Amino acid sequence: MRLLFALFFCLCLTTLTAQLDWVADHPGTITYTLDLSNVQQHELRITVEFPAVKPGVFTVKMPQSSPGRYAVHNFAKNVYKLSAFDSEGSVLDLSQEDLTEWAITGHDGFVRLEYTLFANGGDGTYSGIDDRKLHLNMPASFLYGEQLNDRPVMLQIKAGQRPGWEVATQLVDLGQRRFAAPNYYYFFDSPTIVGDIMRGDFRVENPDGKQQTIEVAMMHEGSQEEFDDYLAWTKDIVLAQQKVYGELPDFDYGKYTFLCSYNPWIGGDGMEHRNSTICSAPVGLEKFASRLIGTVSHEFFHCWNVERIRPASLEPFSFDHANMSGELWFAEGFTSYYDDLSLVRAGVLSLEDYARGLTGQLNYVLLRPGRGYRSPVEMSQQAPFVDAATANDPDNFSNTFVSYYPYGATVALALDLTLRERGHNLDEVMKLIWKRYGKTEIPYHIRDLQLALGDVVGDQQWAEDWFADHVYRSELPDIGALLDNYGLQLTQAEPDSVGFMGLRLRENDGVVSVRGGIAENNPLYAAGLDENSEILSLNGQPVTSTKDWDKLTSELKIGEFYEVTFRQLGQEKTGRFQAASSPTLLLSVDEKPNGKARKARKAWFWTE
Ligand SMILES: [Zn+2]
Repeated sequence: MRLLFALFFCLCLTTLTAQLDWVADHPGTITYTLDLSNVQQHELRITVEFPAVKPGVFTVKMPQSSPGRYAVHNFAKNVYKLSAFDSEGSVLDLSQEDLTEWAITGHDGFVRLEYTLFANGGDGTYSGIDDRKLHLNMPASFLYGEQLNDRPVMLQIKAGQRPGWEVATQLVDLGQRRFAAPNYYYFFDSPTIVGDIMRGDFRVENPDGKQQTIEVAMMHEGSQEEFDDYLAWTKDIVLAQQKVYGELPDFDYGKYTFLCSYNPWIGGDGMEHRNSTICSAPVGLEKFASRLIGTVSHEFFHCWNVERIRPASLEPFSFDHANMSGELWFAEGFTSYYDDLSLVRAGVLSLEDYARGLTGQLNYVLLRPGRGYRSPVEMSQQAPFVDAATANDPDNFSNTFVSYYPYGATVALALDLTLRERGHNLDEVMKLIWKRYGKTEIPYHIRDLQLALGDVVGDQQWAEDWFADHVYRSELPDIGALLDNYGLQLTQAEPDSVGFMGLRLRENDGVVSVRGGIAENNPLYAAGLDENSEILSLNGQPVTSTKDWDKLTSELKIGEFYEVTFRQLGQEKTGRFQAASSPTLLLSVDEKPNGKARKARKAWFWTE
């Protein structure tokens, strides 16, 4: 039996690899060859061979956006020393036409392009090249030929270089350090890590009997034992999420890979892809495994929600500009709701820790003034400005923006708990959406989600009203009342203390000034203070340290009016404010819930 099984397993692997074997020999295949000889200086010399180029000017471009990241990036700034040759090796004219675009003329139907890429860092969007690794996010690394998007692509590492370095990627391994993608989109969606990699995998069976491999490939400084524990957690999470949808997606080549990098030489991130994810952090498993595993949970949930249950607004994905999407409250927010929930269901996170995380989320979403400005749909549309976007000019997001991640997660929580009161749950809705739009890969619009909700509850009018209130407008139901059913109490943490809505102060040489913007619902906003205002006195008492401020504010009475003097733009001013009770919320877990709450918890968290 063992032998038979081993033989069967080998046949399976051969078949999977063979799915793209043709790429190596196809006359249209575009080949990228990596020269690693100067990686210690963070440089990669890249040769791209474009066969069968049509007559005329051939344009090559550097992407400006990266799947899963919603902002525009200037990857082209790290590309230099470009040169182009024809099939005879003759140098071709190459001129830069635009910030991210080069024109090649005089070719004979074949173009060999060479360039140098600099990358020193690496996370879910950017690349890192150094003496320990290649951490390649494809849009940040590779120029592409215009109008050749449907061509197969092969990536290979120059023979003999860094022979000990292994490769992990969702690209299909053709052997001899060659890796294939059926087209450009798949290639650009396939981050690749190269170096000293610890690996492990497990098989997961779908209800139809199909088995698929889930691999964890990790660059880290920790032990095999830490890795094995992490792999076991990963398996528990994968199985818990499979239960939500009833099945794993059919991964394109029968395999899904977690590309984890947990070491001091990488940036923290998580980025979903079709059959893989980057999970990175500059810390190790020894101390941080329980925090890092949240990203594993989040990213794997994306293999359904956003990778296959795909908003139409993200299709086709543009590599030249940012796609604006009004659906990220669902694609990211609902995924965020399920990441921690899956950890509890998988037995990785305790209910107490879950409640602690939820406390932070609810404080952020319920107390920030931003919801007064934008609905979940409109918050989603801000993503190109906030998702790893950089800008030098200040913004007013502290007042006008609430991230669609925790906001969407709160909408999901509200919907799940509301559905449970009606004898349904969000898992049913996700499963139906998966069946209709994920499994079939038909990109959805918001109305499709609403119709699915209506079908689950058997009441389209209710679903329409729910979406009108909570998706197209910013209302939220009474979350505290909903949580009460589960023996979870949402209360004011310090109802008798005066609060200033996340006010941050800095102290410098006896001067206390405001750090960052002041929220509109901070009493000091009405008094006229803004960022950098220097607080001189409160209620007639001088303020020369943050300690003074803390002491004086602790003596204020809720509901009373007080004067604050401050210096703003060189002028001394006096403002008046009404002291308000600290709005900070606390979610506490009833340790001895009644029978009804216990039963409700079991249905929600799948635990006792
Ligand atoms: Zn996400």
